[in-house]
Amino acid sequence: MTDIDDFDECRIPVVLGADDVARLTGDGPHRVEPVALCGLEGSHPGDHYAYAQETPNQAAWWVRWTGNGFGGGYALEVLRNCDQKHHVDHGDWTDDLGCTLWRGHPGRCDF
Ligand SMILES: [Zn+2]
Ligand SMILES: [Zn+2]
Repeated sequence: MTDIDDFDECRIPVVLGADDVARLTGDGPHRVEPVALCGLEGSHPGDHYAYAQETPNQAAWWVRWTGNGFGGGYALEVLRNCDQKHHVDHGDWTDDLGCTLWRGHPGRCDF
């Protein structure tokens, strides 16, 4: 559906604590998995970020961590959604794809 083919996600995993999985799952519409993958563009600088849960008001819960994500700890943050849109012209119809990352993220948008 999206032309995400040439967007290489980082996909470094992080393991969440059972209490955070339960709390985040209870806090929004999605079931949160105990292992989350970094969704930023591959080889990005700085910390890793994985989408965790939707919130109202154009924001979402994100998991932020440093390093390989195993035993190193992580932080949970509410970040505003990226407001970048990508207009795709299919000829007969057009699409406006929204970036699913947070506002100000490093690397490219994921549309
Ligand atoms: Zn990453
Ligand atoms: Zn973006």
